[in-house]
Amino acid sequence: MKITDHWLSGKNIAGQNVKKVETPNFYKPPFNTVSGLPDATIIHYTAMTSFDAAVKVLTTKYPGGGNASAHLVIGKNGEVTQLAPFNHRTWHAGESYYNGRMGYNSLSVGIEIDNVGWLKKFGDVYSRKRLKSEGFTLPEDKVYQGRHENPKVPYEYWEEYTDDQVDVVFEICGLLREQYGMIEFLGHDEIAKDRKQDPGPAFPMDELRSEMLKDRSGEIQEGIVNTNLLNIRSGAGTQYEKVAQPLNQNAQVSILEEREGWYKVKTEVEGWVSKKYITATK
Ligand SMILES: [Zn+2]
Repeated sequence: MKITDHWLSGKNIAGQNVKKVETPNFYKPPFNTVSGLPDATIIHYTAMTSFDAAVKVLTTKYPGGGNASAHLVIGKNGEVTQLAPFNHRTWHAGESYYNGRMGYNSLSVGIEIDNVGWLKKFGDVYSRKRLKSEGFTLPEDKVYQGRHENPKVPYEYWEEYTDDQVDVVFEICGLLREQYGMIEFLGHDEIAKDRKQDPGPAFPMDELRSEMLKDRSGEIQEGIVNTNLLNIRSGAGTQYEKVAQPLNQNAQVSILEEREGWYKVKTEVEGWVSKKYITATK
């Protein structure tokens, strides 16, 4: 796949061409960034049981309002449908905030993955009350078991993403990063913590971020400590415990991951440090 004039083209993993179904639900350029183009990518699940139904909802203007859209929808076999060019702002993020910025519709590209989201257990199948009455259930091998990073989210079961979906999302994020110099790759559940659970624990969000933080040659970014004695902690925040003695000024580190103003770094030990005390050296 490749990006030309803000549209994706080419073939997915299964050899199918990227499809175009234009949505009326968008705002014109520019984005609220220095370049006027998106500098972030937000990952979602559709919370629906069918790819076609999701595309339909995201490309329809309902008279009652509450309309939504996104740039891309990714199907179970890795099929890709683009609904709006990447220089147009779509309506996927809603009220949103992360790391001092707000309003992610005007900052980001939105990728919707065909996936129903959270589930409950009914005997030996998984569904939700209403969906089950409509005949939708999933067997155990299509279900991921695990809690959401947000402890307030009560659900324990989630639809698994397919390998093709994950591979295609990683490939597209790489293209977007290359084309637009994306600086953030986030889940909807990270920019709208109180409202949203998608893409949830079944999606490898941390892996995607680490992968995208590598530079173009595939090397991990390097940095040096620019303050005297920098605390290194077990998580991205001052509430996490220190994992080792503080790092000394000018200590060299490899930057593995970024989250909310913190870097996960590696020296003799691995841990999280406040991003502002690291100068990237490449
Ligand atoms: Zn979402």
